[in-house]
Amino acid sequence: FNTERFGQHILKNPAIADKIVEVASLRPTDKVLEVGPGTGNLTVRILEKAKHVTAVEMDPRMAAELTKRVQGKPEQRKLEIIIGDFVKADLPYFDVCISNTPYQISSPLIFRLLSHRPLCRVAILMFQREFAQRLVARPGTQLWSRLSANVQLYAKVDHIMHVGKNNFRPAPMVESSVVRVAPLDPPPPVKFEEFDGLGRIIFSRRNKTVHGNFMAKGVIDMLEKNWRTWCSETGRIVEDNVDMKAKVEAVLDETENTENRAAKMDVDDLLKLLSAFHDAGIHFA
Ligand code: SAM
Repeated sequence: FNTERFGQHILKNPAIADKIVEVASLRPTDKVLEVGPGTGNLTVRILEKAKHVTAVEMDPRMAAELTKRVQGKPEQRKLEIIIGDFVKADLPYFDVCISNTPYQISSPLIFRLLSHRPLCRVAILMFQREFAQRLVARPGTQLWSRLSANVQLYAKVDHIMHVGKNNFRPAPMVESSVVRVAPLDPPPPVKFEEFDGLGRIIFSRRNKTVHGNFMAKGVIDMLEKNWRTWCSETGRIVEDNVDMKAKVEAVLDETENTENRAAKMDVDDLLKLLSAFHDAGIHFA
């Protein structure tokens, strides 16, 4: 086990650990999932406020240290440690997730939380600063991206605080930020692969027009293939010489998106465009 590979930067500033647990607004009945507890600086604080904590830790030495820390204390029976990789672990039921994990798993972590059922009430997560800024970015700003749209489709995300590198031992190379992610419950009734598929096309160059991105190499061919699959799956007759370019342009025109740019489109604009494509039988996944 190697410090860099597992991103083992232990949070040393007690004021920040306190704040992270405070903003989770834990209830005494809450079951909490903690990812990457390390030596347990957050865990012991969570245990004070919650009913139960499941901590998923990849490094057995860290898990042993955490076990030792609660040994013989009343909190011991409230803590279950799963030794393993969060990305592969079976997750229990949890109301709240709190995590300061290595930044290599930022993306899998947030998408796994958003696709987990039942949804958690809230997640307080530490991320590398730029990743956090992309999560909270609004349309029309510099960092608004496919990641921002994909996450904001499913959750309300707020920036909680900046955390400088010197609050960790050893200090990481990058600055960090804590965000609060509150999943929308119920989630919007849209297939993620479809929403993300549209995003892949129009955010590929987010300052280029939507039309321009659809005309990029391979896009129309891919949509035509999806369209044929959709036709046969739904028992429709496939026209021989379908003009997919014209079909796409018609949808963009009708929805007045031809000259739009993804850089300025919000989640609602994207959902409306997606739904117009679906009405025309055009699918992205
Ligand atoms: N949460 C502690 C704290 O705030 O002081 C430790 C933070 S440290 C940045 C990240 C922790 O996550 C380490 O203990 C590391 O071993 C663990 N870890 C790394 N990759 C993991 C993974 N894929 N699944 C679970 N734990 C992981």
